[in-house]
Amino acid sequence: MRREQTLEEISDGKLYDSNDMVKADCHDCEGCCDCCQGMGDSVILDPYDVHRLSVGLTKPVEQLLQECLELGVSDGNILPHLRMTGEKEQCVFLNKEGRCSIHAVRPGFCRLFPLGRLYEDGGFKYILQIHECPKTNRSKIKVKKWIDTPDLKNYEKFVNDWHYFLLDVQEVLYNAEDPDLIRNLNLFVVNRFYLKPYDQNQDFYIQFYERLKEGKELLALA
Ligand code: SF4
Ligand code: SF4
Repeated sequence: MRREQTLEEISDGKLYDSNDMVKADCHDCEGCCDCCQGMGDSVILDPYDVHRLSVGLTKPVEQLLQECLELGVSDGNILPHLRMTGEKEQCVFLNKEGRCSIHAVRPGFCRLFPLGRLYEDGGFKYILQIHECPKTNRSKIKVKKWIDTPDLKNYEKFVNDWHYFLLDVQEVLYNAEDPDLIRNLNLFVVNRFYLKPYDQNQDFYIQFYERLKEGKELLALA
């Protein structure tokens, strides 16, 4: 999502890499589930999140969309996000004990929080958001340990390439006058990157980059 605020307003002002120590460790979030509720449509999922959920919960993406995810519009792109329900607008995966019921396959956003990413100059850095998590006794932890994601180098490359691809898609969508182009481009992103299953016996990233190549070719023609 495009930010209007300055780095100093939302973070401790520092930029972090995956090997840096950062005061993000919330001690297993004991007694708190603040970032699992009231998040509206902001917990946006990337193709790896949805693939990981689909494999981990052994459900096709169509079923996930019926039960626990929703499609929404974010900066012009149609993208899936976690569904919030009930009076407290809680994530569908939050259990009665206030814990995440899908911890092992939770999305990247949840792995990152209270960290965020600042994208600039074709890359990104991690930031520590200061207004999002109420825990005041957080300990220092290495960014990569906090994110807890295998094959981090390829994951970070994927996250970055996906972000900048979506920006390119947004650019085309914002400038498009033909409603068919807008519809077809949005359908392409949803169908090709999310709904079309990735072979779980093959490397996710190889499959993603095949699709990304297709997407970039389509943008070049738009
Ligand atoms: S707000 Fe902070 S302590 Fe609470 S669940 Fe989220 S990360 Fe954990
Ligand atoms: S997936 Fe888990 S960690 Fe993420 S918002 Fe839902 S309950 Fe919280």
